[in-house]
Amino acid sequence: MTMIQCISPIDGSVYAERQAMSFEEASAAVERARKAQKGWAKRPLEERVQLVLKGVARMNEMADEVVPELAWMMGRPIRYGGEFKGFNERSNYVASIAADALAPMVVEESASFERRIEREPHGVVFVIAPWNYPYMTAINTVAPALMAGNTVVIKHASQTLLVGERLVRAFVEAGVPDDVFVNLFLDHDTTSALIAAGKFNFVNFTGSVEGGRSIERAAAGTFTGLGLELGGKDPGYVMEDADLDAAVDTLMDGATYNSGQCCCGIERVYVHESLYDRFVEKSVAWVSNYKLGNPLEQETTLGPMANKRFAKVVREQVADAVSRGAKALVDPKLFPADDGGAYLAPQVLVNVDHSMPFMTEETFGPAVGIMKVKNDHEAISLMNDSKYGLTASLWTQDAERAGRIGREIETGTVFMNRADYLDPALCWTGVKETGRGGSLSVLGFHNLTRPKSYHLKKVTK
Ligand code: NAP
Repeated sequence: MTMIQCISPIDGSVYAERQAMSFEEASAAVERARKAQKGWAKRPLEERVQLVLKGVARMNEMADEVVPELAWMMGRPIRYGGEFKGFNERSNYVASIAADALAPMVVEESASFERRIEREPHGVVFVIAPWNYPYMTAINTVAPALMAGNTVVIKHASQTLLVGERLVRAFVEAGVPDDVFVNLFLDHDTTSALIAAGKFNFVNFTGSVEGGRSIERAAAGTFTGLGLELGGKDPGYVMEDADLDAAVDTLMDGATYNSGQCCCGIERVYVHESLYDRFVEKSVAWVSNYKLGNPLEQETTLGPMANKRFAKVVREQVADAVSRGAKALVDPKLFPADDGGAYLAPQVLVNVDHSMPFMTEETFGPAVGIMKVKNDHEAISLMNDSKYGLTASLWTQDAERAGRIGREIETGTVFMNRADYLDPALCWTGVKETGRGGSLSVLGFHNLTRPKSYHLKKVTK
């Protein structure tokens, strides 16, 4: 039997451990979720929506425990108060559109015919969640899937081992029936084996590209529906008419908040040559203001990365870029807490180019590369020179120009004058290796349900 452990980035101690479930135990739990699904789906939509919102409210009541728990598990400083803002915003928004999103699409309602498309829940939805925003990434699927009448089985990341357990506890305490929302502790092999055995009707995986590949392989031939929300290397492009201070503020925050561990974090910035020097200077000053340290201390603004192996990837990418001629501009002496392990100082690199993995592979840490560009054409080709495509952040006063450039960028979301934000009214989706499918918005509900056509002819003579 495998023991799954969460090693805290604060001090390297084992913060939590749980026994991984066997295939048989997990299958039995999924079977119970399957049995519970029909009854759950028969309840009125409004009742399901209200029960989910009660679960969300119960989670909020646990904030005093959740915030330090998150700091211990993945290093986010307590001063940021967890993820409740986005968690609540997303839940409330999907609740507000559930009735419309799931309403039948009526094509004809006449004396002769009723023709319409209704939405039916898939059945049992499996959510595999990452550690970087463990509550927000999970709720994107959990809330609409439950509202739509699916039952949900969640397997959370080892790094945030207690999140699935806590979410289920909150929802059950709030009145969501047993077996409608179920947490499983699973190792990779059992996770894949359950999917390969066709135990689920839909799987939403949020995580790395490699993880996504394994899940797609496991599902091959089972016809299980998949939503894959994977890695990114999101660019920013600062045009000559940009508001420079706003661009520095938002892009550097997007690059470094949560220690850069955000799927839509800014990893590379292309700046028009007329603003380049000032942008770089201001960015280095902005990033140098962080206080790196223990996330349990109120004054800490930048915590450790979630695991020292993630920090190692960042250190290696930065060292490799520097060995090829890049220049690291943030003075490491400003960050005495950098211990060569999980505690990692932020960094801004210039003299970078796309021959360096630092500019093409996901870094997922508080380090960003800045390049000078001459025009839109050069910026567009650099932004598209990536195997990923989640978001792109354009900085200009000209919405028409942003729209035009946006149409040429291979990405899931085009931002103008903002970044690193998930709008629950829009579809969260990616292109290329960033994944397939889409969550939130009305389309998220459509992905968590299947269409059923009713073609009722009322006259036979
Ligand atoms: P990860 O290592 O792929 O893990 C994600 C989840 O999948 C975890 O629960 C993990 O379990 C599980 N998992 C990974 N490989 C598996 C396998 N072969 N079989 C079964 N389960 C597997 O990703 P992460 O490090 O947690 O998250 C960071 C990544 O997620 C980044 O690449 C980031 O860009 C991406 N991300 C994308 C989005 C988006 O919306 N596109 C949002 C957030 C994060 P264990 O923890 O037990 O290994």
